[in-house]
Amino acid sequence: MTSDSRATTPPQPGGAPSVADLVQQARDGQPRAVARLISLVEDRSPSLREVSAALTPLVGGAHVVGITGSPGVGKSTSTSALVTALRAQGQRVGVLAVDPSSPFSGGALLGDRIRMQDHALDEGVYIRSMASRGHLGGLSATAPQALRVLDAAGCDVVLVETVGVGQSEVEIAGLADTTLVLLAPGMGDGIQAAKAGILEIGDVFVVNKADRDGAVSTRRELRSVIAMTDRADGSWTPPILLTTATTGEGVPEVVEQILAHRAHLQDSGELERRRLARTRREIEALALTQVRSRFAHLSGDTRLDTLAAQVLAGQTDPFAAADTLVEHL
Ligand code: GDP
Repeated sequence: MTSDSRATTPPQPGGAPSVADLVQQARDGQPRAVARLISLVEDRSPSLREVSAALTPLVGGAHVVGITGSPGVGKSTSTSALVTALRAQGQRVGVLAVDPSSPFSGGALLGDRIRMQDHALDEGVYIRSMASRGHLGGLSATAPQALRVLDAAGCDVVLVETVGVGQSEVEIAGLADTTLVLLAPGMGDGIQAAKAGILEIGDVFVVNKADRDGAVSTRRELRSVIAMTDRADGSWTPPILLTTATTGEGVPEVVEQILAHRAHLQDSGELERRRLARTRREIEALALTQVRSRFAHLSGDTRLDTLAAQVLAGQTDPFAAADTLVEHL
């Protein structure tokens, strides 16, 4: 750790604002400052620690909602409809669209997502896409930092949506206070969801595309499967709602259930438990990233070579050699 991690940096040459200024501007609702801060945390800028320290006293107010489901069930359409419904209640909303398969971040990905452009000019909405491929520590190291920025910027709700195909649905749920699981009729999704372990983590289930045949029977099937599922939080029975995201029908009821789940989390102490678990994972991911980068620095070091030679020569075993290496990190 650097000794100056909590020092404030002066304004950057060329007139770029200091971290303290950026945080203040984000609090004041300036979207460019929010975007800049997210870029700083995502790019692992040298000022990352300073940003993180500046945000820490400002976070905790945002309710994080993870949105998961197979590609094509209507996640992005639903996310946009949820933004509309939340905005109708005057809530400030952040959207973090995470693409685990892409190395590209920023605006490029969202440029294709026409529906989100409905909200592009709304000052109460921050939309950000984030890639995780190729990023040190992956999603688990970068997404919590971006969430922190949106939280500190005063978002009441942050929607985290997975874009594209990925194995990270459960990982997304790990970031969320409330996990929304989307299904659609006629996709054999009840079974798919059971396989992915998503039934255990869903707090609110949504059968989208209710304008199509089979939505009611999908809901019935889902209800009986959920009843047999051993859930982590047994004191909450997840509701199953029907929506047509393209028209917004049923979406206000989803918002209602998200808020009901939030109240349940607060009253039961489960919110604290989830957030502690989330923060533990975040710290662990950061610590592992640090350890990994120290190993990377070892590549030019002869210590590892020496240990390898000793193991080969039968002078020590690999476990003892690993202990020695870790001790010296
Ligand atoms: P994602 O891959 O899960 O993000 O799904 P999208 O939101 O991109 O939606 C996939 C397709 O389903 C798009 O063509 C949407 O217009 C369509 N879609 C989304 N919601 C509904 C709905 O409620 N009813 C119908 N009929 N189509 C929908």
